[in-house]
Amino acid sequence: MTAAPSALVLFSGGQDSTVCLAWALQRYQHVETVGFQYGQRHEVELAQRGIIRDEIAKLGDWVARLGPDTMIALPELGRLSETALTRDREIAFEVNGLPNTFVPGRNLLFLTYAAALAYRRGIHTLVGGMCETDYSGYPDCRQATMTAMQDALSRGLDYPLAIETPLMFVDKAGTWAMAETLGGAALTDIVIAHSHTCYLGDRTHKHAWGYGCGACPACQLRAKGYLQWRGLHAL
Ligand code: ZN
Repeated sequence: MTAAPSALVLFSGGQDSTVCLAWALQRYQHVETVGFQYGQRHEVELAQRGIIRDEIAKLGDWVARLGPDTMIALPELGRLSETALTRDREIAFEVNGLPNTFVPGRNLLFLTYAAALAYRRGIHTLVGGMCETDYSGYPDCRQATMTAMQDALSRGLDYPLAIETPLMFVDKAGTWAMAETLGGAALTDIVIAHSHTCYLGDRTHKHAWGYGCGACPACQLRAKGYLQWRGLHAL
């Protein structure tokens, strides 16, 4: 397999995209990051991005590979999510574990903006933490959507683009294990201490698996995966 020399990682500051960043740093000589500010309730995750980048750059020879970060503001996305959700739909989303800021097609927008940036940077690979395993309710996280999106972007830009999703079929326990494989305890410690998952933006309560309210669907999923990983790890 011939690895492309550079990649652009969709990096939110969450657990999944932190592991994706490490994954990319191991494979590509030049890795840039892009983040999106859209009025998310858990906007605190954006503050963690710089911290994680600084910490992850200390591992191995990754400092030489880590390129610039770009933040893209999409305030209309947050505005749409506030007005488009009816109360009934909002409740349904909560039952399904989806955030209140969820907007249908959100990842399609992110990928389109990331593709525009990659085009200007001469980068042909996008890396994202989309995953079918934990959230089957997210239609814009499925492999079939990514395959179609990769084709649409490559055709629409007349520029070959690959969308890599290393976590597509990995559950949360597997994501923790992948972090350990990629960067050992140093990386899992970064994930625990600095990556943010909690939908409520809680960074006041510390747990073995990191900071968060401990009750929202994202915290529960992260905690469950951590416990499973530790259990497997001890064997
Ligand atoms: Zn939470």
